[in-house]
Amino acid sequence: MSRIEMVISDFGGVLTTPLFEAFASFQDRVGIPPRSFGEAMKAIMEKGQPNPLFELECGRISEAEFQAQLAEALEPILGHRPEIESFGMLLFEALDPNPGMIDLIREVRRDGIRTALLTNNVKEWEATWRSMMPIDELFETVVDSAFVNCRKPDPRIYQLTLERVQLEPEQCIFIDDMEINIEAANELGLHGVHFRETAQARAEVHALLA
Ligand SMILES: [Mg+2]
Repeated sequence: MSRIEMVISDFGGVLTTPLFEAFASFQDRVGIPPRSFGEAMKAIMEKGQPNPLFELECGRISEAEFQAQLAEALEPILGHRPEIESFGMLLFEALDPNPGMIDLIREVRRDGIRTALLTNNVKEWEATWRSMMPIDELFETVVDSAFVNCRKPDPRIYQLTLERVQLEPEQCIFIDDMEINIEAANELGLHGVHFRETAQARAEVHALLA
């Protein structure tokens, strides 16, 4: 069995507080019920268009285009065209760093384990999410879906990450709060750790490294 050399971590919901809490707060701020967002996304895809969130995360549409698509799809549902500007800013206002997981990254680095970040993200949000913690101090490599035109759980984004760090899948731990992303990582041979809460994820990573 080859030794584990690297911990690859997700960003949102692992190194930060849970995203669903931030979405709930965002929806409160814009006054649109979560159900309506779901209906709007469904209406877009029923027209045969790709999922706008996936397009945004793959850097194929801008945040402005995403907001326009969503506002248009929400119009018949809400009876008026909503203002959904600064989607990202509002989301990030409700998101905080998760110190327990950031500490874990520092601890493993101290023990000589390499670290990388693999995030499904949005181009326009880069300065904002990077300002939440010292990303370049914590990670030697950052793979951001919006800049590589591919998102988790597509196996290609994991393969691209492994190529960049020059490691085999079994040499890497991968932490993510979305089970579908963990399943894809496990399929490729990485050691997936499904983040549910900080203490559990920390214990699983330490056990794999022991
Ligand atoms: Mg996440």
